Amino acid sequence: MLFGDIETTLAAVTGTRSRLAKVDALASLLRGLEPDEVEPVVGFLTAAPRQGRLGVGYKTLSNRAVVHAAASTLTVAEVDDAFSRLVGIGGNGSAAQRAALLDDLAERSTAGEWHLLIRIMTGELRTGALEGVLLDAVARAAERDAAAVRRAAMLSGDLGQTARVALTGTADDLAAVGLIVGRGVQPMLASTAATVAEALGVAGRASVEYKLDGARVQVHRHGDEVRVFTRTLADVTHRVPEIVEIVRGLPVTDVIFDGETLSLDDDGAPRPFQDTMARFGAETAREIALRPWFFDILHVDGRDLVDEPLHARLDELERVAAPWRIPAVITDDDAVADDFARAALAAGHEGVMVKGLDATYTAGRRGKSWLKVKPVHTFDLVVLGVERGSGRRAGWYSNLHLGARDPDGLFGEPGGFVMVGKTFKGLTDELLAWQTTHFAERETGEVPGGIRVVPDTVVEIAIDGVQRSVRYPGGVALRFARVKTYRSDKPAAQADTIDTLRALLPGGCAAAEG
Ligand code: AMP
Repeated sequence: MLFGDIETTLAAVTGTRSRLAKVDALASLLRGLEPDEVEPVVGFLTAAPRQGRLGVGYKTLSNRAVVHAAASTLTVAEVDDAFSRLVGIGGNGSAAQRAALLDDLAERSTAGEWHLLIRIMTGELRTGALEGVLLDAVARAAERDAAAVRRAAMLSGDLGQTARVALTGTADDLAAVGLIVGRGVQPMLASTAATVAEALGVAGRASVEYKLDGARVQVHRHGDEVRVFTRTLADVTHRVPEIVEIVRGLPVTDVIFDGETLSLDDDGAPRPFQDTMARFGAETAREIALRPWFFDILHVDGRDLVDEPLHARLDELERVAAPWRIPAVITDDDAVADDFARAALAAGHEGVMVKGLDATYTAGRRGKSWLKVKPVHTFDLVVLGVERGSGRRAGWYSNLHLGARDPDGLFGEPGGFVMVGKTFKGLTDELLAWQTTHFAERETGEVPGGIRVVPDTVVEIAIDGVQRSVRYPGGVALRFARVKTYRSDKPAAQADTIDTLRALLPGGCAAAEG
């Protein structure tokens, strides 16, 4: 298939608001693929090449001084091959080799194709919302049940492979795609409730758990082999030897845990999130120890538990990993849950999670089965642009333009972001220095006084509330926004939505989701 066909299809997809028409366009593209083209094409469509990170930035890509092809001849296989060669380049002279490869690719693309390639290679393609549509398109093209396709994708953590099995295998092959111990599963996500009582009202009898402000970990053990994944399914096993050691010592052969990791100070109080992430994200210093707090178990010794109710999973968790469970209480009593939430806050944690006891583990889904309750308003927003600082901050990128996710395209392109405010507060010199380098590499254009950037950096913002706004397209602006921390562990597709912020307006007008 020609790469140009991807461009044409994406233009059709973004050119319509009708979900049905999007699914149709993608399904007809998928039907035309050879088996070997399925995984590369899914990677293009989701701006997640199957080769992983390609390691080339926007500047390098947009600075190619070449004459593009007049007509489309580049094939899907050629682009896939170029990506494979790109990640294989290393050692002496790699910059020149990379430049030659990119020039060649740019010359063989039409201008439109190259523009698309840049967006794929930098991940700028805004396809957060496309994944859901794509899953439906795979189901349509393969004539399979959409739920079966979604389930396979979430459990295997691999959309491309799922699409290939759906399109080229039998229904049984698709049903057989499931948990594999050692391969990351899309984590279950939480919605928001305003109060513990509201959450219990939705969940009924629930497991009320400390909500720790650390980093999500999914730990797999097969025999003596242990692997640890982040919430984006990056493998961080080598960074957390203490967690590996603990899980290796448990009385099981095969297991998958879901949990949070956090560092504690000498008094047993949680250290700030930044400390955990510094330790979690770095290859270095082990002086800050991390410990796991498990809150779920997805598999044990040959038995998948994802379709079992939470109470059954918690029984298994207690049986195999009691010392490493997150503090929790099972109750349907508002007063008991409230006391527990107060204890969580007093111990320095963010709040509580309230989880319905009968709910199954819905990988990759944000439902009402898990509800987070946090007393302080903090939101995970996406940086859309950044302004140059002045005075003491001259030479640094300072004021951040903050966007909320707009999955349904209520205020713009579906899957895009709506600006809701700016802030330069809460930034330490360390963060200023870091973000200056970080955003310089992600420049995609201009904003007044600064640059527009690839919308893939998530920042946690504390606010006092929101107000109605005529200036911002979503009709809502943040009040007293300040930076708490960068959330390098969170993909932009999991940032908070414009709906969540609008729900905070006086007389809130949207369902809270978070
Ligand atoms: P948020 O990132 O605010 O959407 O909250 C969800 C995150 O809270 C999860 O991805 C976990 O990393 C974290 N978390 C902390 N404690 C718990 C818990 N008891 N159950 C589930 N998630 C938790």
